[in-house]
Amino acid sequence: ATPTALMVGTGRGAQLGILIKGPEVLESTRAVDTIVLDKTGTVTTGRMALVDVVTAEGVDEDEVLRLAGALESASEHPIAQAVAKGAAERVGELGAVEDFANVEGLGVQGVVDGHAVLVGRPQLLADWSQHLGPDLADALKDAQSRGHTAVAVGWDGEARAVLTVADQVKPTSREAVEQFRSLGLRPVLLTGDNRTVARTVADAVGIEEVVAEVLPKDKVDVVKRLQSEGRTVAMVGDGVNDAAALAQADLGLAMGTGTDAAIEASDLTLVRGDLRAAADAIRLSRRTLGTIK
Ligand code: ADP
Ligand code: MG
Repeated sequence: ATPTALMVGTGRGAQLGILIKGPEVLESTRAVDTIVLDKTGTVTTGRMALVDVVTAEGVDEDEVLRLAGALESASEHPIAQAVAKGAAERVGELGAVEDFANVEGLGVQGVVDGHAVLVGRPQLLADWSQHLGPDLADALKDAQSRGHTAVAVGWDGEARAVLTVADQVKPTSREAVEQFRSLGLRPVLLTGDNRTVARTVADAVGIEEVVAEVLPKDKVDVVKRLQSEGRTVAMVGDGVNDAAALAQADLGLAMGTGTDAAIEASDLTLVRGDLRAAADAIRLSRRTLGTIK
């Protein structure tokens, strides 16, 4: 394509709500045959709400919400924001947090009102020898079978509750996936979340291939593996945890509603956070490069 055509393509992209880092980016979309989609915040809204609290025997629900809600109010994760908001609505004032730490891809830890509190994947609690009893394990499985995200809460050496937060698939995601297919792209759902939730979301939007329970640092390896199989990979993501994979992909697309780290690591930004714009971007570049009319 001529420099002029690339400039025109870039301008047209801006009109479609697609910010293109440089004219040369359009060239890199030429051979894309696979599109890897982050789940939370990309295929789904990432705006979750607290929908259920199950406590172990003898544990006070309000105390769970005061401690877990306080800890999560220090995190920007979509799950954390849902827990903090839901807890504040139900119990009013939350506890005071000290020594907060984010445990990447697993959850959060900190001291709340003098208790050492963990909120996150059961794996995080298990790392501290806090294991879910049968009631909590059932609650977790139950929530997951409904496609919801469940996180465990423990403090002072014991697992004490399971909180369920529900995210929603964006109304435009299914149509976007159909468009990817009609462009000849193979969609892959990539997430740190568990297999059951990932499968439910994938089914809702029509994706067959799912890679779940991937730690943030390993997302980049999934992209590398696909590339080593000879595929040319576009990746769409929104989170700090997606940045390395977005940079590794042959074409990185960030949700404009996402984090700065994702936007900086990407070649393109989808301003409105609508996945259909990813299909628009690929169509635009193919048109600009003259591969389709
Ligand atoms: P994704 O890849 O879907 O964007 P992440 O890699 O950010 O998800 O997180 C993976 C999993 O770790 C989440 O599904 C959740 O179970 C747990 N997790 C991470 N951060 C938190 C948090 N602040 N509170 C509770 N759970 C968390
Ligand atoms: Mg995400």
